Amino acid sequence: MTGSGDGIDATTLFGPQGGLTYDDFILLPDHISFGVNDVDVSTRFTRSLRLNLPFVSSPMDTVTESDMAIGMALLGGIGIIHYNNTIEEQVRQVERAKRFENGFITDPIVLGPMHTIRDADKIKSEYGFSSIPVTEDGTRAGKLIGIVTGRDTDFEENRDLHLKDVMTPNPVTARKGVSLQEANEVLRKTKKGKLPIVDAKGRIVAMVCRRDLITNEEYPLASKDAAKRLLVGAALSTHDEDKERLAELAKVGLDVVVIDSSQGDSVYQAAMIRHIKSKHPEIQVIGGNVVVERQCRRLIAAGADALRVGMGPGSICITQETVAVGRPQASAVYYCAKAGREAGVPVIADGGIASAGHVMKALALGANTVMMGSLLAGTQESPGEYVYESGRRLKRYRGMASAEAMRAGGAKRYFSERDKIKVVQGVEGYVADRGSLKTFLPYLAQCLRHGMQEVGCRTLDELHKALQSSQLRFERRTPSAQREGGVHSLFDYKRPEVAAGN
Ligand code: GDP
Ligand code: 5GP
Repeated sequence: MTGSGDGIDATTLFGPQGGLTYDDFILLPDHISFGVNDVDVSTRFTRSLRLNLPFVSSPMDTVTESDMAIGMALLGGIGIIHYNNTIEEQVRQVERAKRFENGFITDPIVLGPMHTIRDADKIKSEYGFSSIPVTEDGTRAGKLIGIVTGRDTDFEENRDLHLKDVMTPNPVTARKGVSLQEANEVLRKTKKGKLPIVDAKGRIVAMVCRRDLITNEEYPLASKDAAKRLLVGAALSTHDEDKERLAELAKVGLDVVVIDSSQGDSVYQAAMIRHIKSKHPEIQVIGGNVVVERQCRRLIAAGADALRVGMGPGSICITQETVAVGRPQASAVYYCAKAGREAGVPVIADGGIASAGHVMKALALGANTVMMGSLLAGTQESPGEYVYESGRRLKRYRGMASAEAMRAGGAKRYFSERDKIKVVQGVEGYVADRGSLKTFLPYLAQCLRHGMQEVGCRTLDELHKALQSSQLRFERRTPSAQREGGVHSLFDYKRPEVAAGN
């Protein structure tokens, strides 16, 4: 190993001596000339999408459904909704997340005067909102005649009453052509919760909600599309029948699709990428998973807008044990990020992020974002309930190729869905409670800002430039150096409450 007083550069670190992972090295500090809050951790996610925080939640059925996708996007990252479900279920999850926050809602759900409160209740349970414009004929083509909100119906015991008898008639409206700013101003002035926008014939063409003004102020980093809706991703397989899945997801405004294969360099995936790029050019496509440069080049040539990197580093993963193919994650990220950078394609470091420090290491090796499963599976926003075991609050977390997930339909990622003998490549287990994403994600981001400050880089772009120019310095860590870097020599100790990686 070449060493020096100022450490070694990345090329030397990843010399010929074998694969490395995050714990095998440490970053050496540089000069600090700015405050920690001057650090900007915004990043490229795909060729055309940016995020304010470099965090992505994994498409796993114990990690990302609509609550996680909403939480991730509100805070500045993005969630990828899993596909271990029916097309209808996945579409519903994406739609809930897409409808959560808006500028103009151009397709507000409306009802007619003869619908009942019960019909409005059904919409509330499916989508979460209770304010519904009422039109003459119950469609958006009919004239707007009123609006029904929770205030009209909350205490009404008879849920079979017609909306015409409970709605507020002739609501305040604005005319088509009004700007979002003007519409927001009307909401502020009139103190109303909803502002339907109508055309010259009185038909509803859009709606603006007070709730969105508030959400917008509460979550300034939120990841949004041009219509101010949250960015949402979804996963699918390389199988032909998933083309139909994608067509349905596209209808509810999906922004980005992750093609979920453990070994992404296949003719099936290349064909799927080409299909998506030609049929749904508005959707960004993430290819993967890959771990070596030649795989990256092939997926980039097929049209991938970002690459997902990792084979075998996941906490629940037994791929390297069962099929003996994969790569230590730090090496995989370093080399794939290099290939991605050469083509202008961002990469996602997927799997094996076991602590906040690993986030910094993955990004320092050239990744643009990190994808997390186990770290997020213990938050309130992941699917499932908490359980108690020996006095600790835990949540279930399982690999998508675990026996349990495969029984529920999750083997698509491993080309073995229809095989008689299934090779299990993941395990089921539990992770510790991590509280709400709303504290955990900002905490991860702040750890990252500190790390970037220590190495003297104000932006991720600067960090990647320092990596390439050899200004960023590293050192290998022996097993005893790794022990020294963790907590040691104590009889007992208490971890901080919001800590990643215990
Ligand atoms: P409500 O008063 O119960 O309808 O709920 P809020 O106004 O507190 O929240 C409604 C949220 O759902 C806002 O963020 C809207 O942007 C969003 N939303 C998305 N689509 C629709 C829709 O068709 N109707 C309504 N009412 N809200 C929608
Ligand atoms: P974690 O953040 O828990 O370390 O890793 C999550 C990643 O592990 C996922 O994004 C996915 O790439 C990978 N993964 C999910 N389920 C399985 C599985 O059953 N087997 C393997 N080999 N990898 C999995």
